[in-house]
Amino acid sequence: MSNLLDVFGDYSAREIKRIMPIVKKIESYEKEMSKLTDEELRNKTEVFKFKLSKGKTLDDILPEAFAVVREAAYRVLKMKHYEVQLMGGIVLHQGRIAEMKTGEGKTLVATLPAYLNALTGKGVHIVTTNDYLAKRDRDEMGQIHEFLGLTVGVILHDMEPAERRAAYHMDITYGTNNELGFDYLRDNMAISKEERVMRSLNYVIVDEIDSILIDEARTPLLIAGEGDEPSEVYFAADNFVKKLKKDEHYVIDNKVKAVTLTEAGVELCEKEFGIENLADEKNRNIQHHVVQALKANYIMMNNRDYIVNDGEVLIVDEFTGRVMDGRRFNEGLHEAIEAKEGLEVNNESKTLATITLQNFFKLYNKLSGMTGTAYTEQMEFREIYNLDVVVIPTNKPIKRMDHNDEVYKTTRAKYNAIVREVIESHEKGQPVLVGTSSIEKSEDISALLKRKGIKHYVLNAKNHALEAKIIAKAGEKGAVTIATNMAGRGTDIKLAPGVAELGGLKVIGTDRHESRRIDNQLRGRSGRQGDPGSSKFIISLEDELLKHFMPERFKELVEKMAIDENVPLEGKLLNKAIESAQKAVEANNFAARKNLVSYDDIVNVQRKVIYDERNRVLDGEDLRDDILSMLSEVINRMVTEFLGDASSKERDEELKNLIVFAEELCIPDNRLTYEDLKGKSNDELEEIIYSIACQVYEEAEKTLGEDRVRTIEKVALLKTVDEKWIEHIDNMEYLKEGIGLRAFKQVDPVQIFQIESSEIFYEMLYSIKYNTIKQLFYNLKTNKAFSN
Ligand code: ADP
Ligand code: MG
Repeated sequence: MSNLLDVFGDYSAREIKRIMPIVKKIESYEKEMSKLTDEELRNKTEVFKFKLSKGKTLDDILPEAFAVVREAAYRVLKMKHYEVQLMGGIVLHQGRIAEMKTGEGKTLVATLPAYLNALTGKGVHIVTTNDYLAKRDRDEMGQIHEFLGLTVGVILHDMEPAERRAAYHMDITYGTNNELGFDYLRDNMAISKEERVMRSLNYVIVDEIDSILIDEARTPLLIAGEGDEPSEVYFAADNFVKKLKKDEHYVIDNKVKAVTLTEAGVELCEKEFGIENLADEKNRNIQHHVVQALKANYIMMNNRDYIVNDGEVLIVDEFTGRVMDGRRFNEGLHEAIEAKEGLEVNNESKTLATITLQNFFKLYNKLSGMTGTAYTEQMEFREIYNLDVVVIPTNKPIKRMDHNDEVYKTTRAKYNAIVREVIESHEKGQPVLVGTSSIEKSEDISALLKRKGIKHYVLNAKNHALEAKIIAKAGEKGAVTIATNMAGRGTDIKLAPGVAELGGLKVIGTDRHESRRIDNQLRGRSGRQGDPGSSKFIISLEDELLKHFMPERFKELVEKMAIDENVPLEGKLLNKAIESAQKAVEANNFAARKNLVSYDDIVNVQRKVIYDERNRVLDGEDLRDDILSMLSEVINRMVTEFLGDASSKERDEELKNLIVFAEELCIPDNRLTYEDLKGKSNDELEEIIYSIACQVYEEAEKTLGEDRVRTIEKVALLKTVDEKWIEHIDNMEYLKEGIGLRAFKQVDPVQIFQIESSEIFYEMLYSIKYNTIKQLFYNLKTNKAFSN
């Protein structure tokens, strides 16, 4: 592994060398640009657009365009892009990931490729993690673009569709992953094209890309609607799984957080529910509820994954430890937990539309991203997103001291050490930032500091703006700030005067995270732009990570050596061991995310077919030919089904059935008589029925007018597509679970999913046609479009 990483280390150096000539070219324009009047500088935008219209490429004009932005940034904000920022800008334009440390000025970097790509008029999106940052960046960086004559918008949570549409039609649009993703889903539920707010997805720059594509990748975006009354099966399933014995009836894989029934468990389940084969398609409702009940009872923990408050189950965010108001676990898990906790089970929510962030961002023609921490996850970016990571050097050398971990035997000793360390710095006025893994732990440490009379801030604000304000002050003299690892990401901590002399900001980590990346983020809060600073993790053998993932021999060694619990162990070897524990967890989590993506990739292809079809309808394409071909296919299948292998004796009987069926589908009563059909071949039957249906259709066009019929068929198709697609989403979820339940020896479950899901998908496409025809003729009839 480490050899491979070295290769990538060289890789970045090589890539930087390759783009250096472009950087030099940009810088060579500096003097020329500085001499232009504001007016002349602004006119460059039109000149570039003209050049593009005459066949120049973005790469052709890049050096001069970047130089124009650089000069504009200097005039408007008094900031001139550093050389390393130019490098980052080029990497972003190339559709890659620029790893640039915290404080390197990534927000300013994004203005370069944003301007260049906006010149095409196809739109540029800049994505950040929360509304506060989106607005901040739009307000500040937007000034540069507006100075140069481009339009800039921002999408915020409480905006109305009209405002959103306007913002998406700007040259450059700032917004969060959630808002953009949900707008995309909603646009694909629109029933007229005027309702849609987005344009096509052209170029996106994702800030903090690791946070968005990796940390948030496990929960897909999901639009839910009110579903059916909760079924009794929730309680039955809950009852059943509570009776099971661990390892005998079910097994838990703690590493990937999965629980499965053993053979004995499956048998017991079949007995309990009086069914023959749990894996059978017709038992999928029971399957589904049992799977969710298992998860609810044996994976999800009260006070860790969720809390119960006022009879309600509230989700706890695993990264920030915050309660996520108003969100529900999907696919019936929320309801299963309600059953587990003996609460009233709410109406099951129904998924109306869903997409993973991974697949959402893959929809863009060009995807790029920036973050301080991508390097450790470069394999994942490459494999899943086809994105490479280029590590950009820092503007000034990093002076921060990253100390070895201090490892204590017990949590108590660890907390004592943390308090000692805080006091030591606080007494000389050096600011300290204490990073924790949950709000709860932040509060524990806060209580200890309070007892010692140390004034400090705890960051547990629900509000990103307030959070940013507090964390920005963490660099003031004597400040002590306690925050969860992820809180306030994206906010700059500047050192107050005199603090550099005291050693800069001291960061104390109180837990090693499962991912090294998150730890690096925490360290990176100190030592920006060549500032002095230091970081250290103070941890204990009782921490989750060490408890579960440290090799036994190491734990024994530490146990033996740690005689006094207040004397920590530290050293390179120990750090290595911790790091390899983290690598093991990272690999597990990567595998889980990759698995999710492989399933979603399959559904993604199907989603694209459906959404393309919808858009074609919304864009007002004439559906007459489509309707006629659906009609012919449906009639063909109908005839084959009734008469395909009917012996001559049955034929008479089946003909009568066929007439009834056709009358329900598309033929007005009494137009199709037994006499007409008697003795005809299947081909002839099809022809007769089809031509009558066509007559009816044309009659309707005469009576109602063609436009009216076009509208009616559009509505019929859209309604059917949506109904069927929503059903399909559920079916896919059930299928996935069902596959998980079946015992597979040598087969790859993803492959099974691929095969079975495409069968279901094609069957659904047919049922869309069938139901559209039925709905259409029904609507024509109720509109009195033909005599009956
Ligand atoms: P990052 O996102 O990389 O952590 P920010 O974009 O938040 O960094 O920028 C950090 C600070 O550096 C901001 O206060 C910003 O105004 C400042 N800054 C960025 N680039 C420059 C520059 N070229 N010249 C002067 N200040 C800069
Ligand atoms: Mg930033």
